[in-house]
Formats: sequence, C-alpha cells, structure tokens
Amino acid sequence: MTTHSNANDLAALLRSVFGFSSFRANQREVCEAAMAGRDLLLVMPTGAGKSLCYQLPAVARGGTALVVSPLIALMEDQAAKLGALGLRVARIHSGLERTVARQACADYLNGSLQFLFIAPERLRVSGFPEMLAKRRLALVAIDEAHCISQWGHDFRPDYRMLGQHLPALRGEGQPVPVLAMTATATPDVQADIVAQLGMVKPALFIHGFRRDNLAIEVVELPVPERAGVIANLLAVPQRRPAIVYATSRKQAERLAEELSLTSSRSGGSGRLAGRIAAAAYHAGLDAETREQVQTAFQAGELEVVVATIAFGMGIDKADIRTVIHAGLPATLEGYYQEIGRAGRDGALSRTFLMHSYADQRTHDFFLNRDYPPTEHLAQVFRALGQEPRAVEELRAASRLSEEEFDKALEKLEIHGGARRDFGGSPRRVAAGATGWKKTYAVQAQYRAEQFARVLRYTELNECRMSALVRHFGDVEDAKQPCGVCDVCDAEGAVLRLFRRASEQERAIARRILEDLRGVVYKEEAPTDRSSSVGWKATGTLQRNLDLVGRISRDEYEGLLGALLQAGLIEIEGAEFEKDGELIRFRKARLTEAGLETHRGAPLDLLISDGIVEEFGGRAAAPARKASAARKTVASKAPAGKSAAAEPARLTAAAEALAGRIREWRAAEAKRLRVPAYVVLHDRTIAALAAARPRNPKELLEIDGVGAAKVERFGEQILRLCAGE
Ligand code: ADP
Ligand code: MG
Repeated sequence: MTTHSNANDLAALLRSVFGFSSFRANQREVCEAAMAGRDLLLVMPTGAGKSLCYQLPAVARGGTALVVSPLIALMEDQAAKLGALGLRVARIHSGLERTVARQACADYLNGSLQFLFIAPERLRVSGFPEMLAKRRLALVAIDEAHCISQWGHDFRPDYRMLGQHLPALRGEGQPVPVLAMTATATPDVQADIVAQLGMVKPALFIHGFRRDNLAIEVVELPVPERAGVIANLLAVPQRRPAIVYATSRKQAERLAEELSLTSSRSGGSGRLAGRIAAAAYHAGLDAETREQVQTAFQAGELEVVVATIAFGMGIDKADIRTVIHAGLPATLEGYYQEIGRAGRDGALSRTFLMHSYADQRTHDFFLNRDYPPTEHLAQVFRALGQEPRAVEELRAASRLSEEEFDKALEKLEIHGGARRDFGGSPRRVAAGATGWKKTYAVQAQYRAEQFARVLRYTELNECRMSALVRHFGDVEDAKQPCGVCDVCDAEGAVLRLFRRASEQERAIARRILEDLRGVVYKEEAPTDRSSSVGWKATGTLQRNLDLVGRISRDEYEGLLGALLQAGLIEIEGAEFEKDGELIRFRKARLTEAGLETHRGAPLDLLISDGIVEEFGGRAAAPARKASAARKTVASKAPAGKSAAAEPARLTAAAEALAGRIREWRAAEAKRLRVPAYVVLHDRTIAALAAARPRNPKELLEIDGVGAAKVERFGEQILRLCAGE
C-alpha cells in the first residue's frame, strides 16, 4: 500500500466508520504514522481528539487493538461510543462480572474483537498476558500515559508493569506499534514514558496547547479583598458568563453569596451597578442542586457559577467570557484546564488568578490532608494480614480516626500496600507488597513540587501563555509570546495597575542593564543568543549592584518585571543541586533589544503597582498614586463596539419588541434543537430592541451579532425589528 492510498483510505474510514467529515489538527499525521507501524507519543490537550488517533488506525490495520486505560469510567465511555458506531468492543475491569471477562477473552481469542479495553492491573492476573500474546494485536494504545511516570501527576504503580509485558504483546518481527496518549507531560514525563514503555524511535506529537484568545492576568491580592474585586469585575455584563473557582466548598458558598449581595452595593461610580445572579457548585451539594446549577448555567439563565474543581467537566458552553481563580490552584494542569473553559467560541476572554502568601498556607493544609504521614499508612499496613479482613473491623481496631484511617487505606491501595478482595461484601482487604513506601513518598513529594510550580508560575513574570505551553511540553511553541497577557501587554491589563518608573528607579534599571551587558562582553559572545551565554542569577545581580537593603525585595522584583515587560531582559527559572537538595533560582540576561539600548537612552518603564483602584482592591500608596498611569473602569471595559454599552433601560416599545424577539428565539431554538442562547443572547436581544437595526449593516453593529448570525437569522430579525 502506498502512503497516498493509505491517506485516502483513512479519510474514507473517518467518514464511513466514525462519521466525521474531516480530520482535526494533527490527527491525519498521527494516524499515518501509526499505519506506518511507528511508536507514537501524543501530548495534546483534552478534547483535541486523541482517541481517534488510535481508533482509526486500529480499524484500518485490522485485528484487535488493546487499549489500556486507568479509569473504569473512561473505559466504559469509550467502549460505549465505539459500540454505538457498530464496532466490536469488549472490556475487562473489576466492575464487571467474571462471566463478562471470560466471554471477552473467548471473543478475543477467536478474533472477533476490534477493541479490547483493560485496566492495567489486569496484567497481574496470572495467565492473562499469555492469553493476550496468543494473537497478534493491531496496536497497543495506552491512554492517560502520564500515569506511568512517577513524575506524572496521577502516578499509577500498575502502569509500571506495562513495560514488562509489552515486549511479549508486541510480538516478533516488525513489532506491533505502541501509542501513548496524554493531555499533559512535561519533558521529563515524556522521556519517562518513552523509556518505561520501551518505545522505539517514537514519533512525537506535542501540540495544541496555545490558546490565542485567552488574556491571562495574575494578581497578588489579599484574601479579604477578593470578593469585592470579583463582584466589580463581573458587574460588567460583557465579562459574563463567568466561572469563579474557589479553593474550598466553604469559600465557594461564601463567594456566591457575597457576589449576589455585593453586586448591588458596588458604590463609587454608578457604572458598576447591576445584579449578578451567582450560585455555588461543589461536590458537597446534592445531585439535584448541582444538576440545576449546571443546567441554568448552560442555558444562560445563571451567569456566574462559583465552583470548586468539580465543576466544568460536563460543561459545553462556548461563550464563557471570564474565568477567575479566587485562590491558587494545586496544579498547573488543573489551572490550565479550568481557564481553558473560557472563550471556546474564539472571542477574546479574560482569566484572572488571584494569589497571596496566605494561599500557600491553605495549600499546605490540603497537602497534609491528602497525603497523610507515612506513619499512618504504616500503622494500617501492620494491621493487615495475608487473609483478607473486613475494612470496618480494621477501622474500629485502629488508633487512627475514621477519616485518617480511610485516607491511609486509600493511599495504601493505590500504592499496592493493600489488596482489596473484590466481589465480597462487606469490603475486605489483605496485605499487599512492601514497596508502597517508596512510591508513596515519591508521589507526595511530587504533589508538593507541583504546587511549587504553580507558585513559580505566579512569580516568574514571563508571558503567561508561554509558561503554560512550556509546562505542558511544547518547548518550541513556548518561544512565542502571546501578546495579550498582563506580562506581554501591561497597559491592556484589566486589574493590574502599572505606573511609570520614577527617575531614581530608571537610574537603577540602567545599572541593571549595564551589569548584564558586562556579563555578555566578558564572555565575548555578545551576539550568541542560542546558548547559555549572558545569564546572571538575579540574586547575584542584586548583590553586585549593592541594592540589598537599599530597595526592598518587592521594589527590586518590580524593576525586573518592568525590564522584562519592556522586552529588555529575559528571565528564566533554573536550579542546581547542593547537598542533595534542589536549589532554585532565577537568572536574567539581556535580550537583543536590551543589548541595543544605549547607555543614556530614556527608559520608559511600567512598574506593577497593585490593582486598579476602582475594582476595590487596596489603593496605591498616595505618593505613587500621583504618577500612576491611571485607568478607569470604563477604559478597561472589553475592547470593541460594546465597550461602554451597559444595557440601557428599554422603553415600553422596545420592551415589546424584545418580547417578540424572545418568542421567535424560543421557536427557533426548538426547531434547531439548541439552547436559546445559541440563537441569541438575552443581552443581544436587549441591544437589538434598543437599537432597532434597519439593515444588515446596522444589524452587524449590534454586540453579539456576527456575520454568521446575520446570514442565518438576519432576515427574520430585521423583519421583527421593522415590526412585521
Ligand atoms: P481527548 O482524548 O483528546 O481528550 P477525545 O478523543 O475524547 O479527546 O475527543 C473529544 C471529542 O472530539 C469526542 O467527542 C470526539 O468524538 C470528537 N472528535 C474527535 N475527532 C473528531 C473529528 N475529526 N471531527 C469531529 N469530532 C471529532
Ligand atoms: Mg482522552
């Protein structure tokens, strides 16, 4: 088969089997590589369509694809989808009856399966890997492959066994290709996956993490001030719908309440007035309430949800304009996924991350709760025997509290120190292997490390999107600054306030530049931008310039931030090992623009100076305020035609028109089987009723009406507006 006919075949199968009219980005290339028999590592964001990348080649290659998946829910979901397409699928996991598993094996052996899903621990069952090896597989797909790496955030010791079993499963001769998929893998994790799975010259596809329409802002803000600032941010209708992520259930509820109350308080400029209907959403609410909140949000009736991480999984809402983190998230993975819910429609959306020193303490508390002391696990482990015992009995005999016991047992199970006796009720456990101690310690440490990364993200002051893209493993793409975050575009920032540097500050900034220039010339390679030349640790720099004690750490950081923002220096995180401990530091060097700056050149620097006063945060110190590059809320409203357009009160005639448009919308939504807001937003209706556009051109000027809407509904809307 030539590559050419291959490609055509793939496109045909994509349509006929999966019902998709075209490939998504990278899917074709990945499928072709799999067809050519290559091992593959895919690192692409959630929702990118990674599953198709193993499913299509599996169907095209013929035979059975073995799919390893860490979660029963994931397995069930994918198996059901494939089954619905008429493909022959079986799955084997602990949630199923033995007879189902037996049937699956029989079907596999007689060659009638196209997909076999298994949980990794199944490979521990004696005889199972040998049974699989009796036939040649089409391919082996490993979903959520980051679980194999102990540096990955969901490390599963059972995934480790894959590496041992793969050679037998891949067979002789040209080995069966292995496809590893994940939505997150730092370069370390990528290397680990490849090594653990023994992949042979794998093709790497690490793509798609950049989002062009998210303007990220990271703001230091004391906890008590956050509610007020959030209320004021979201009082602007163009910033809704919005999701606010809280760090605990309690915070979620308090914030939701405060938002609903404060929205009418707002004070100061009347521009901010307006009601915000906000609801809390977290795992502690009953299913019915959660369902209601989710449905109301999806339908556009509820514009703000204050949620813990439990919210958003099932949300498919394209027009979320703002995502706010009212506290530091535990991992960058989670953070990225959460801000990623904004702006799915492609329109510019804003995200705000609020943090302060207090967040660190909150997080330490969670870390201790989620990763109990090893001693707790050891206590439970000692109580376990070779014979399974009822969990309740063990719990009652333990000196740990119920909560502590359950947590410790859960961790032991994950790390193989306890074996659950399946099928029996009440739940019973027996002792597992002793190796749990090591992997548990590693993982607890890794969790702490993940949070340290979040902290560094807030401190690093480099393009926010670049930092994220690099974190997820796309080192190449990370070189491109986004242009819209608070670091790239200080003046465009909504919350953060910047002021022009004073003469004295500019003098110090010049000395910083001179000192860095010295490093470059000493190394005699001023034009070498590729290598490690020209860097200096920021701490050394501060000492060299004798700045310690003269200006505060904050002021020094502020100046570095300003130089960074002006594009004159670059800053990178670095680390070295000392006495077995990892020491982190930051280093700076001149950019090309920095190198070209003349000694006496005027430096126009913007220094981060708290947040815009009108939002209700702490005001800048009086002396600074005078020179501050003042911003008003109005000038900070989203750019574009709607900038200052608060929905005006409608006249009676306009009210009536709005009513007619709503009626038409309801009918249209029903006909198209979409939620009403997909046809027209409430605020678009209000704007239409107020403006009464007479022709397509005027119609286009209404906020919320784009070319597609004009084409689709223009005629009908204009007729309604004309009173027909
Ligand atoms: P991932 O595993 O990368 O998070 P999935 O494989 O679950 O993403 O795919 C996300 C969604 O995209 C699924 O609903 C899938 O059916 C859909 N999808 C995948 N490929 C295509 C395509 N080429 N055209 C249309 N929809 C697709
Ligand atoms: Mg997936």
